[in-house]
Amino acid sequence: MQLGVPREVKQDEHRVGLTPAAVAQLSAAGHQILVERGAGEGSAFDDGQYQQAGGKLVDTAAEVYAKAELIVKVKEPQQQEYPLLRPSQLLFTYLHLAAAPELARELMASQVTAIGYETVCAPDGSLPLLTPMSEIAGRMSVQAGAHHLERTRGGRGVLLGQVGGVPAGQVLIVGGGVVGAQAASVALGMGARVTILDKSLARLRELEDKFAGRAALEFASQDRLRELAACTDLLIGAVLVPGAAAPRLLTRDDIAAMRPGSVLVDVAIDQGGCFATSRPTTHAEPTYTVNEVIHYCVANIPSAVARTSTMALCHATLPYVKTLADRGWAGLCSDPALRSGVNVHGGRVTHREVAESLGESY
Ligand code: NAD
Repeated sequence: MQLGVPREVKQDEHRVGLTPAAVAQLSAAGHQILVERGAGEGSAFDDGQYQQAGGKLVDTAAEVYAKAELIVKVKEPQQQEYPLLRPSQLLFTYLHLAAAPELARELMASQVTAIGYETVCAPDGSLPLLTPMSEIAGRMSVQAGAHHLERTRGGRGVLLGQVGGVPAGQVLIVGGGVVGAQAASVALGMGARVTILDKSLARLRELEDKFAGRAALEFASQDRLRELAACTDLLIGAVLVPGAAAPRLLTRDDIAAMRPGSVLVDVAIDQGGCFATSRPTTHAEPTYTVNEVIHYCVANIPSAVARTSTMALCHATLPYVKTLADRGWAGLCSDPALRSGVNVHGGRVTHREVAESLGESY
């Protein structure tokens, strides 16, 4: 099969769909991989490495899209990519369609089959292509939050770790899944006091085993979240309802009641954000302030550590890329995880939760 790896064009996106090592494996299996020149640059992979791996370099994204039957990328298509999509092409990438009605319409109009990494669901209910980026975003969320808590960044001037008899900073994490657990590990490692709220009792029990008394674990009731948010230094939003837009958990008034200079990191912003005052930001301008609360709402956090992220993503996606490349449509149909990832096919939204969020028929 002809595969295509375009250079990512979303602002501040430095990851790439396939590493040279992945290209080598696919090429050895008899596939042809078209790689746009410079596609790997942001992840410190040069064109020569792709060539050595058996990839064929092309000068423009238009050439990649015109020839490839399967496009492997990282972020959802951007406006300049819409006209390049072709009917019956397979598109394998993050989509986050529930929060992107315009993109959903474009994908339907283009008649591509669009598989969203974030909705590929393994038989055990886990999300194998979201997990590696969630691990990274979870770790980075505390790093970013700690940085913006510094007085020189406009924060409260709080160090997360305890020192000299001064109480440690307070970190509140809402949503104790992959992002939340990784954030908690880093925050605990820095010496912070950590509370995790989740609405899943089963998940709270798992976290109980993992953090064994080191983090406070509570059921995520609205009242408790509001109460704790008002006295936290760093609030991390990490909830997910797969395929659906993130639930709004705090109102404008709740945010206004937070302490001046406290920091809110809404990791769930790629699903629309879980706080009323959240709106997407970029790495170039990662924060804004509402009622003296610093908001960090970067929608592609892992791009900041693009090389690590590209490799981690590719380790997870490669088995699925292989199935699609080796067996095409038949491979997609025979693999329940891939099937669950199909968001758009034949001009329609084919994922129930995504369709419900968009108000589309399913
Ligand atoms: P996950 O499924 O592992 O965990 C989500 C957790 O949220 C679950 O434990 C669930 O029980 C909990 N939850 C759901 N609704 C809740 C509610 N109302 N109150 C409290 N808890 C609730 O998901 P994840 O992989 O940790 O991803 C979390 C979010 O981070 C997702 O929105 C994902 O898209 C996003 N994400 C963003 C970036 C980024 O760069 N901004 C990167 C990776 C992931």
